Amino acid sequence: MKHESAEVVIIGGGIIGMAIAYYTAKLGMEVVVVEQGEIGGGTSSKCDGNILAIDKDPGFDSQMSLKSQELISALVHELDEEFEYRAPGSILVCESEEEMIAAERWVRRQQEAGLSFKMLDQKDLRDEWPYMASDLLGGLECATDSTVNPVLLTYSLAATARRYGARLLTHTEVFSILLDEKRRACGVETSKGTIYANHVIVAAGVWTKKIIGSIGLDLPIEPRKGHILVASRSTNIGKRKVMEFGYLISKFGGKRKVDPEIEKYGIALVFEPTASQNFLIGSSRQFVGMNTRVDQHVIRLIAERAIRFFPVIEHIPMLRTYAGLRPWTPDHLPIVGHVDEVPGLYVAAGHEGDGISLAAVTGKLVSEMLCGVPTCIPALPLRYDRFNSGMVHQEVLI
Ligand SMILES: Cc1cc2nc3c(=O)[nH]c(=O)nc-3n(C[C@H](O)[C@H](O)[C@H](O)COP(=O)(O)OP(=O)(O)OC[C@H]3O[C@@H](n4cnc5c(N)ncnc54)[C@H](O)[C@@H]3O)c2cc1C
Repeated sequence: MKHESAEVVIIGGGIIGMAIAYYTAKLGMEVVVVEQGEIGGGTSSKCDGNILAIDKDPGFDSQMSLKSQELISALVHELDEEFEYRAPGSILVCESEEEMIAAERWVRRQQEAGLSFKMLDQKDLRDEWPYMASDLLGGLECATDSTVNPVLLTYSLAATARRYGARLLTHTEVFSILLDEKRRACGVETSKGTIYANHVIVAAGVWTKKIIGSIGLDLPIEPRKGHILVASRSTNIGKRKVMEFGYLISKFGGKRKVDPEIEKYGIALVFEPTASQNFLIGSSRQFVGMNTRVDQHVIRLIAERAIRFFPVIEHIPMLRTYAGLRPWTPDHLPIVGHVDEVPGLYVAAGHEGDGISLAAVTGKLVSEMLCGVPTCIPALPLRYDRFNSGMVHQEVLI
């Protein structure tokens, strides 16, 4: 390739880029995706596969997640390849009376917003989770939560986008966004040549800030590292996702009453049984730059935390570990929208720990923006310039 052209060029072949490629190609647009490595090789293959509303702020955040849950269940029938979709709901468990009170408040707010939440007592936990530590007081359930294999979903979006005519260029790095004399985005310069396009979409996860920076713009997206352990499903601990209530507090940057080491690395139990006979056990939250090296000290702390909730985990074989970088934004919402000062340029990034959950709604939203049709959810809270215009989302109350 020296020169080619397309209607839409998407930078990044993660789950967000592939969801945009799928929905735009399906509408008949001519799409090229440019990925510096392999499809799904970034954060989308270093994560869990939860499609959650349980940890979303009631209101816009949870309504966006519900829309994405609905779209993902439809993708089961639309996409060419299976991606281990299940919808068993998920739960949060509480360690203290204080957490139970906060959980009741969370459930009430979610119910008022029309979501399918309910409280669980100690007996509910025992009946479903015989291996759970017996001192846990209760928790809450969100019935609509689902789970996928994130890598398979990314591949399946890619395969189906290709069927609709999208071209996927892997091992091709974007060096810069091309601007015309009116400072309008008109393509990208890559390691294999130039691609001219009417619309340029930056969907490059934690790399988005650098790419946008190449044309003098700035975005508050920072890498927030997370670790996962993969354990063998040798004991029937449980069949659906469970997290500790403190996960919510860690996610939204609040203070928890836990060991300072647990707090320092943002460790909170996330336990996910996968379709392929494993348990994914996490997780941690750290701002340590672009470093994805697995830190054995953090792994040990995650294992200890998991054993506190499920003592039997001490006897379960660990298979491997990995770490990934969540694309964090200050208000915990992604940036999805047009860049006003550069016509033709869009950003779809900053999904932090929710990129798998929100991939479908993001892809659909961007395809609707490109076609100029009404969007499936309001796009205003996600707009690119909200950090400059003081339009940031309010603090999350837990
Ligand atoms: C431990 C952990 C657990 C998680 N669990 C969940 C979960 O259960 N549920 C959930 O919803 N989310 C979860 N997430 C978050 C989720 O993984 C991310 O939000 C999501 O993967 C981001 O997708 P993306 O497509 O934006 O980024 P990526 O998957 O990183 O894709 C960006 C792509 O852009 C490419 N790229 C970068 N620069 C260039 C360039 N110059 N030229 C060409 N290509 C380029 C990269 O190679 C990469 O493939 C988790 C994350 C972590 C770390």
